[in-house]
Amino acid sequence: MNATQLIAKKRDGGTLTDAEIAWLIDGYVADRVPDYQMSAFAMAVYLRGMTTEETVALTRCMLYSGDVLTWAPGRSIVDKHSTGGIGDKVSLILAPLLACCDVRVPMISGRGLGPTGGTLDKLESIPGFRTDLSTGEFQRICDDVGCVISGATVDLVPADRKLYALRDVTATVSCIPLITASIMSKKLAEGLDALVLDVKYGSGAFMENLADARRLAQGMVAVGQHLDVTTSALITDMDQPLGRMIGNSVEVNESIDVLQGGGPADVRELTLALAAEVLLSVGMVESLETAMQALKDRLDSGRAFEKFAQMVAAQGGDVSADRRLAPISEVAAPRSGVVQSIITQALGFTIIAMGGGRKVQGDTIDHSVGIEILVRVGDRVEQGQPIARIFAQPHVAQDARMVIQEAIDIGEGPVEPRNLIEERIT
Ligand code: URA
Repeated sequence: MNATQLIAKKRDGGTLTDAEIAWLIDGYVADRVPDYQMSAFAMAVYLRGMTTEETVALTRCMLYSGDVLTWAPGRSIVDKHSTGGIGDKVSLILAPLLACCDVRVPMISGRGLGPTGGTLDKLESIPGFRTDLSTGEFQRICDDVGCVISGATVDLVPADRKLYALRDVTATVSCIPLITASIMSKKLAEGLDALVLDVKYGSGAFMENLADARRLAQGMVAVGQHLDVTTSALITDMDQPLGRMIGNSVEVNESIDVLQGGGPADVRELTLALAAEVLLSVGMVESLETAMQALKDRLDSGRAFEKFAQMVAAQGGDVSADRRLAPISEVAAPRSGVVQSIITQALGFTIIAMGGGRKVQGDTIDHSVGIEILVRVGDRVEQGQPIARIFAQPHVAQDARMVIQEAIDIGEGPVEPRNLIEERIT
């Protein structure tokens, strides 16, 4: 085969065979296909798209470009993936919650991407917590505790590491088949029986509108099913932050509240809904309602929190050690009215500006900074009422205050907030 001919075939709207896709991906990983040809291929896919069959073939080749975890028989292997949102701390709660229900959750997570925070960065605000486990440690902790959350090792999905870096600098990231193959290859490398996807849409999400979120969710569910992993998806709102807290230490604190049966209603509801999907997928329950009941019990009884503490200890951390929090100051409503919308992305970028995320690769993160949003879309507020709190040194909080006041749009007239869970795709 010849890379130029395959690029031309896709450029002209053709459909590639499994063998052609395998030849390109294998060649790319082995450095036989150079970056410039792969860039042209990625752009051809960006412009022409891929059929489900092509996307499945691409995902399969990427998945098997590295190690795929295998597990001793026994409790099902499950996980969740979120396309990312502001204040999304569901992974921290869902992994131990599911581990209390006789399944194993080997969660390979990432760091902050754009304005959205990363699960690994959040967990590293717990003193001692290690996110660089070897594959052996990762699997042992998952077998012993029932859940583990760590970063990817270099042996997992090398094709994605190479291709994602290339897409990042060739304007080919926001392409549904390429996103699908990238996300699904990484998740399926965990050796899963079932996967639930949280596909977010709105001002703080990768997908801004519902139609795109639906296409992405349908594509990923189809690929999962083709590759024998029971996959379902929820399409969920990201037009306002999830929960009240945004940042690292503050999100861990809020997650612990939920793990102990409290916390904001939206974080609890979404975590329960996603976890219920997983239990239904592996046949542990007969209905979503039964699953919800069992899961609520694990939160309210404190069992999920105990499991979290066990996982943290197994990964070298101490959940009772002080997590650093910067000084608190308040943000007042500049006028009276009703919260019309929250520019969620602006809040994510404010965390980065305060040092809670990275401006460039390799930046050190200040885990102590954060924002607490005290209002929801549709709430009535009076001028001068606190609408947010900032966790930052005073000179840093000063700039953040103005951005937050602008991000929370207060106007006239009632507003109906969007549904937290908009659609379920199976
Ligand atoms: N996240 C990923 O892992 N891959 C993509 O392509 C986009 C988001």
